[in-house]
Amino acid sequence: MSSTNGKYDFSEKVALVTGSSSGIGAAIAVQFAQYGAKVTITGRNAENLDNVASKIAEVSNGVEALQIIGDLTIDDSLPKRLIDETVTKFGRLDFLVNNAGGSTPNGKLTSTNLLEEFDQVYKLNVRSIVELTQLAVPYLEETKGNIINISSITAFVPFNLIYGSAKAALDMITKTSAKELGPKGIRVNSINPGPVVTGFGRSLGVENDKYYEFLEQFERETLMKRIGKPEDIANLASFLASDEAINITGSLMVSDNGTLVYSPKFEI
Ligand code: NDP
Repeated sequence: MSSTNGKYDFSEKVALVTGSSSGIGAAIAVQFAQYGAKVTITGRNAENLDNVASKIAEVSNGVEALQIIGDLTIDDSLPKRLIDETVTKFGRLDFLVNNAGGSTPNGKLTSTNLLEEFDQVYKLNVRSIVELTQLAVPYLEETKGNIINISSITAFVPFNLIYGSAKAALDMITKTSAKELGPKGIRVNSINPGPVVTGFGRSLGVENDKYYEFLEQFERETLMKRIGKPEDIANLASFLASDEAINITGSLMVSDNGTLVYSPKFEI
């Protein structure tokens, strides 16, 4: 793959990045656009989506992102709309990044509304991804495209029963869909980040300030004494999406500053 605008040339490519109104998804959408891709961005917050669309226009010489507002836990027609509108607007689909995700504040067996939380978290982190993947397959088969699922290192160590088990389920979905879709020429991989500075605290019911304080303290629990940035994850996503990663499918790629091998201590 030649490079015209940095490391990768995505100029003929079209990407759908879920949860791209902030954090990791926004960084991935902006970086893909910087490398020339046309991008669909989506989330619940219209103002944040507008801000990401402006950044995309800046890095891509005015190429407009397609913005679709919606809630994956409420709007059952959203996955189909995301795929259909992307293909209608841009004519193809090369990269599906299933990034939208999050937890709930408790996720413990003692939570009074355990099962409601369970349904909500699994709908967002698991069910919507299965549906989006199924809907994307015919288009990705045409382009020999690929899928990147954003999981978490909490899939590997006990942290939060609901969120961690949902991400563990997602990891098996990554591996089994890679196996099923490999013969169609579609690669499927996962990125499992450690703590990253984003708005993620909101989904844990923690104010941003408290979440950033936790991250600051958590720095010493990482091997590299460093907390991840959304761009770290975007760098790996761009590599995985590119033909440079032609040899990689069914992989769970940890990006955590060595947290897992050093001290997997999660308590907020
Ligand atoms: P953010 O909260 O910054 O971003 C989450 C994104 O998902 C936002 O765009 C948000 O949209 C969207 N989203 C959340 N809920 C819904 C919903 N119900 N329907 C549609 N969109 C939704 O967090 P991150 O960037 O950190 O999270 C991105 C992914 O990374 C998630 O899958 C998360 O589990 C994973 N992750 C994050 C880590 C971290 O430390 N930050 C560590 C490991 C994994 P909006 O804001 O518009 O509602």
